[in-house]
Amino acid sequence: MATRTKSRQANTFRNPLLEGVRWSEKCSSRLSLIWSILPQYLRNLIISSAVLFFASAIKGDWIIIAVHLLKQLNGASTNKANEAQRIDSVHSILASYNLHGLTYFLIAAVVGSYLIYFSIGGFIHWYFYIKRRDKAHEWKCQPEKFLSPELELHEIIVGASSLLVVSLFSGIIACYAMNSGKGLTIYYRFDEYGWFWFVAQIGVVFVYQDYSTYWIHRIFHWPWLYRNFHKLHHTYKQPTAFSVTASHPVEIIFTQLVMLVPIVTVPVHWAPFYVVVVYAYCQGILGHSGVNFKSFWWQPWQPDTIFHDNHHQYFHVNFGFNIYYWDILHGTYRLKDRVYSEDIFYGMGKGLSEVPAEVLLSDVVERNLENPQAYRNNVHRYKLEHQEYGQFIVNNKIKTN
Ligand SMILES: [Zn+2]
Ligand SMILES: [Zn+2]
Repeated sequence: MATRTKSRQANTFRNPLLEGVRWSEKCSSRLSLIWSILPQYLRNLIISSAVLFFASAIKGDWIIIAVHLLKQLNGASTNKANEAQRIDSVHSILASYNLHGLTYFLIAAVVGSYLIYFSIGGFIHWYFYIKRRDKAHEWKCQPEKFLSPELELHEIIVGASSLLVVSLFSGIIACYAMNSGKGLTIYYRFDEYGWFWFVAQIGVVFVYQDYSTYWIHRIFHWPWLYRNFHKLHHTYKQPTAFSVTASHPVEIIFTQLVMLVPIVTVPVHWAPFYVVVVYAYCQGILGHSGVNFKSFWWQPWQPDTIFHDNHHQYFHVNFGFNIYYWDILHGTYRLKDRVYSEDIFYGMGKGLSEVPAEVLLSDVVERNLENPQAYRNNVHRYKLEHQEYGQFIVNNKIKTN
């Protein structure tokens, strides 16, 4: 522990950029003091709100939500009605594309997203990875391992770069929605399509988004796409909340576009639509946090954090996000008697008898790095006892020799 602390300090000293982004580490003692005097309910409220705000920023959606809220409060009905109000009063080229005032929207989207990303993201990072670092066995999915300071910096740089791309895109959508929104199928009057649809669309949008992102994710794990795009996101074998946006810009913008398909195809009220989007992003943050969160009783579809943490530790398995049935349905759910690694593609792994002895041995070591407390009833579902794998080590050695 002393050596690790020393090496962390040495790395921090060497890298001035790392000093800059580690504000929470520097303010730790002051933050701890403030935190210690807060009552428990307030602490819970702060940490939950932090995840919620962070979720609204990871793809810049906060500015789109703000625009729709504004239109709702101004009594907008559908987007068509608004277009008629704008068309006579604007003349610039941007205005002809219904993008009047685009510069302001882009600046606001980027500045706002970065402010939330660094301040709230920094707070979440402090709360787990600095304040409770020494008690990792109580809360961390992989308690023995942390990202190196260089990888922490790497994920923040990659995450911030992708955040720039998606925030600019969200800024364009927000501007377009504010000016006209023509072509968008978003509506504002709650009962425009009936109350049944107002509620039912929550499930429809959720299932559509989750199933399509399962497939996009799975396809990005095909060898060529993985090596050229998605491997970047898998640089982080022990993900943190900052890993959630640390993906290749091509991949993240593609996923964002697919998530937005409902707003140009079916009538959706902006409020339930963005409730689903923000819920998905909240779970994305928790899934990448590396913290052993468990889903609540009212989320029977939702996997625990360890599900996606396993995905980062073992690569080509558990491709789903918020509904784990997709993996069970398609045979990509992690199984105890299968071995998974970065070199074994397509999500099915290999049998214990099919891999060389050294691969099986390193898999056993990897499994032992997992925290049993991250699983239900504190029972490690994938731990292999010697009697379960020993014979294969002997057989596989003979086979490979
Ligand atoms: Zn992946
Ligand atoms: Zn991930």
